[in-house]
Amino acid sequence: MSKFNSFSFNGKKALVRVDFNVPIKDGNITDDTRIKAALPTIKKILADGGSVVLMSHFGRPHKDIEKKPHLTLADFSLKPVAKHLTTLLGTEVQFAEDCISEDAQQKAAALQPGQVLLLENLRYYKQEEKGDAAFAETLSKLGDVYVNDAFGTAHRAHASTAVIAQYFPADKKMFGLLMEGEVSAAEKVLHNAQKPFTAIIGGAKVSDKIMIIENLLEKATDIIIGGGMAYTFFKAMGGQIGNSLCEDDRLDTARELMKKAEAKGVCIHLPQDSILADKFAADANTASAINTEIPEGWMGLDIGQMACDMFCKVIKDSKTILWNGPMGVFEMEKFQHGTKCVADAVKEATEAGAYSLVGGGDSVAAVNKFGYADKVSYVSTGGGAMLEFFEGKELPGIAAIKN
Ligand code: AMP
Repeated sequence: MSKFNSFSFNGKKALVRVDFNVPIKDGNITDDTRIKAALPTIKKILADGGSVVLMSHFGRPHKDIEKKPHLTLADFSLKPVAKHLTTLLGTEVQFAEDCISEDAQQKAAALQPGQVLLLENLRYYKQEEKGDAAFAETLSKLGDVYVNDAFGTAHRAHASTAVIAQYFPADKKMFGLLMEGEVSAAEKVLHNAQKPFTAIIGGAKVSDKIMIIENLLEKATDIIIGGGMAYTFFKAMGGQIGNSLCEDDRLDTARELMKKAEAKGVCIHLPQDSILADKFAADANTASAINTEIPEGWMGLDIGQMACDMFCKVIKDSKTILWNGPMGVFEMEKFQHGTKCVADAVKEATEAGAYSLVGGGDSVAAVNKFGYADKVSYVSTGGGAMLEFFEGKELPGIAAIKN
């Protein structure tokens, strides 16, 4: 059983770091996915007979106020979340208007088993992002067990995500259920992958994905490269890519990655063909071409049918699949076919017993758009954190609990 599940919170006050950085418009929460994701952890603590002090960041108050002086700290308040969480939990969620004030300390001290308190936005204090030890220590006094359930911020060495853990003994700090799920899915893929292990890497830019590809060259058997980033590879090989997306300062990087892959025996699969557009628009005229012969005036906005067929075959032969980044501009209907084909293949491979993890903002958005979220083994909520994990970096939020 997991550390969190086997711990009895009876009579304990759990200080839980969550990620309630949700979109709020005119005081209304427009997407509560992140709040709902924290519910199992909160409910287990309450069911055990414990109480919960929740803390989270919300936006980037100081940076945003500097840029847009009409904004104030009140625009970054977590108060609407307390109200929404009250509805979701069916239990009144108290609110402290400052995360470390006397009032917060008194409210935390007075909490009874079964009660929940949400602290105001941690980032009202600049010390949070600076990883200030005194600030972290003050926060740590608000609970007797520290639970980190905010995988989305695990790559930041902030006061509440990492530094705070040192003020709790080893048996009183742990991951929450969401974080446990994320960490075990990521570790399964990176450290215990059954082979063949295929990484599907897409999206706009090579520069964003170099480190993840480099690290996966040590782990994967096959790397599929799709999306806008593929055209830099074709140009690097001397192809004509028309007006397709290209990072001219990354041509050498693309050549080096291909050389390294060859030396390591990792198969890099590039799409042979593309669906072309005569402008970057949903109503563009379309055509198709192989990727070394794209005429001037046309740009590749999706992988073509030959590429779909080839990628799907590789995916269906895999036992482990990691997917980060779409195959094309899936937000526009005319250019979503490739991403949909890949989603279909990942679904079929999963049904046939493969382990599949989808991580990183836009591929998660694509899987959700096509209604496949429950057809893959795991959909990660931690975009940047998951990316850094697969780049091979140690995430401070994980290290602080484990080490
Ligand atoms: P990323 O955040 O790097 O994963 O990139 C995701 C974005 O890449 C999505 O918004 C896609 O629309 C975009 N994208 C994918 N393929 C292409 C392409 N061939 N040309 C331009 N943009 C693309």
